[in-house]
Amino acid sequence: MLDLATIRTALTGTPIRTRFAPSVTGHLHLGHAVNAVYVWGLARALGAEVVVRLEDHDRGRFRPEFEESILADLEWLGLRSDLPAPSRQSDHADRYEGAAERLSGSGHTFWCECSRRMLAEAPEPPEGDTLRYPGTCRDRGLAEGAGRALRVRIDPGEERFEDLRLGPQVQDPSGQAGDFVLRDGPGHWTYQHCVAVDDLTEEITLVIRGEDILESTGRQLRLARLLGRTVLPRYLHHPLVTDPSGRKLSKKEFAKSLGDLRREGWTPERVLGEAAFLGGLLPRSTLIEAGQLPALFA
Ligand code: GLU
Repeated sequence: MLDLATIRTALTGTPIRTRFAPSVTGHLHLGHAVNAVYVWGLARALGAEVVVRLEDHDRGRFRPEFEESILADLEWLGLRSDLPAPSRQSDHADRYEGAAERLSGSGHTFWCECSRRMLAEAPEPPEGDTLRYPGTCRDRGLAEGAGRALRVRIDPGEERFEDLRLGPQVQDPSGQAGDFVLRDGPGHWTYQHCVAVDDLTEEITLVIRGEDILESTGRQLRLARLLGRTVLPRYLHHPLVTDPSGRKLSKKEFAKSLGDLRREGWTPERVLGEAAFLGGLLPRSTLIEAGQLPALFA
């Protein structure tokens, strides 16, 4: 259950700053609107700041028209950033580089030349988690080189945190993923690295996002600790939108973009009301203005 007083108490003493961080790999859809309702609703109810962060680290899937439409949709919905401009990951290569250098300086990284295929063919770990890196290059002392990925050493050990909606969580980044990639073979910074570094640099103290990312949180907390972050962010993972058959709403499947809905005559109030309903904040869909979002959490 979500209880504003508990959230406020949990965050006492820290300036509260959260972020809306869409990947710039598609247009916004109702799933993003659900996240936006939680982010802006809670932020305004808590007197927190919101940073709009354009997660465009995936240069293969980035397209400038997605960025334009994301910013236009937010404007249309009446959801504004508290910073004069959005934060853009493609502007922050120095940040990711600097953080990786710090990790390397403290002996926490290594270069890896395993291809995806080699990893897929490696013997399966006991729990059948094929995503776990088996440690192939961990102790080979490879130098940086063309096509080599930079990985972070993840030693065994639990990450415990109190999700502000789901309660106590325990994750084991070493068992789940092992030494994960910070920079891939073609030279792109990965989601986990960018997010941990951005949340640190942008002084994000409250991360509000969907439950689909819950299992990344332990990895991001570990990275934050390795980077020397002392006051770790607090996390709130909200329910995901499901279609009537119970599947997760995904842009690849059946979700229409907010632009499609707008062209069909939906108003911003209808989108926000529908999102609040889909996100489990209202018993039925109604019309809601951006200014009314904090009341959903009162
Ligand atoms: N960019 C991610 C997404 O759109 C969200 C990342 C995060 O909130 O940590 O799914």
